[in-house]
Amino acid sequence: MSLNTIGIKTLGCKLNFSESATIERILTEKGYRIVPFEEEAEVYIINSCAVTAEAEKKCRYYVRHIKKQHPASKTAIIGCFSSLRLEELIREQEADIILGSNNKTEVVNKIESLLKSPSQHLPLSQADDKTAFVSAYSLHERTRSFLKIQDGCDYFCAYCTVPYARGHSRSNSIATIIKEAKTIVANGIKEIILSGVNIGDFKTGEGENFYNVLEALIEVEGLQRLRISSIEPNLLTKEIIELTASTKQILPHFHIPLQSGCDDVLHRMKRRYKRDVFAEKVHYIKQLMPDACIAVDVIAGFPGESEADFRDTYDFIHRLPISYLHAFPYSRRPGTLAYDMPNQLSKVCKNERNQQLLALSHEKKHTFYTENLHSIHKVLFESETSTRQLVGFTDNYIKVIASLPNDNINAIRNIQLSELLDNDTVLGIAINE
Ligand code: SF4
Repeated sequence: MSLNTIGIKTLGCKLNFSESATIERILTEKGYRIVPFEEEAEVYIINSCAVTAEAEKKCRYYVRHIKKQHPASKTAIIGCFSSLRLEELIREQEADIILGSNNKTEVVNKIESLLKSPSQHLPLSQADDKTAFVSAYSLHERTRSFLKIQDGCDYFCAYCTVPYARGHSRSNSIATIIKEAKTIVANGIKEIILSGVNIGDFKTGEGENFYNVLEALIEVEGLQRLRISSIEPNLLTKEIIELTASTKQILPHFHIPLQSGCDDVLHRMKRRYKRDVFAEKVHYIKQLMPDACIAVDVIAGFPGESEADFRDTYDFIHRLPISYLHAFPYSRRPGTLAYDMPNQLSKVCKNERNQQLLALSHEKKHTFYTENLHSIHKVLFESETSTRQLVGFTDNYIKVIASLPNDNINAIRNIQLSELLDNDTVLGIAINE
């Protein structure tokens, strides 16, 4: 086994990816070599997720798989799953290093300590501090970077474990965000994706909010693209929509969690809006930016969701000009309010409803892509396929394949969307500039 090699597996959200990238950077600066997770490494880190029971299962699977495949290697679990199950995982000695979500960069010191004195009492761990804000951003992808601006959440939606794992809402300062954005741009990266648990809830002691973050970022010289990523419907203000419509850097791409289209279910989920508010935001976006992409999260089969409630959700989404769905069957998470709710639905029922939502999503995406055919969009090319075509995304998040020389990777080109290849990809033709 080569010494000082580290394999990292990241599960879950964009925030986890930005934090893994930061850990990678610190380790590399200290002389460690990051190797693909499939290769042999001296230490393996699993940056875990706890959003669904399935995500938790995956974390345990990876740790046990590593122990079996590479018994001489050391393992570390960090992230939301270990944050929620810290004591249990320590008791079961599930890994050599066990840290929660909020002190995950501490994994670097723990690895150094473990490699220096391997015979010390294991697992190495420490209590999770859920109040500090730890900066993170990714630099390893050539074209885009996930920049963490906020962490934690105060909403405590009835189905969600994240506030328990990550703690209360807290934000970076705008000055630090700008400094980090400048570093990202100086590394030749063209697109920043703003990340956080609940980024619309961004607030600082000086009274600054998410709108102020956007205002400051569009002034960063050389920053060409800014994606907002997921934002709660009640926090997506008219001003944010108008700013997006009026600036070229903020891309017309929204990701808005709906979760249910039935007010009664929304109320029991403890969501902070009614469906009319959601519809109002979607229509305003489309009024100002007719070709904007709007992705929507929905949960199928929340406890007590009747057939009529589900139909209500389905029909509501069907009527809205959204672009596609992230639909998931409800996952019963211990420690949440919904865990103890009556009328838990069967797995079969949840999966069947989820399938209907996925089929609706397919339809919506087909319509969205078709509506955009023959129009010209700016595409940032990210990678090359095995058949030497380039792959990238339009400003409004349509996946495009085009025949172009590979020195166009990390370049933004004007592309005409010429033909639908499948429900996920459009063939693009470069337009002379
Ligand atoms: S807004 Fe609700 S669903 Fe989103 S992280 Fe907070 S508690 Fe979870």
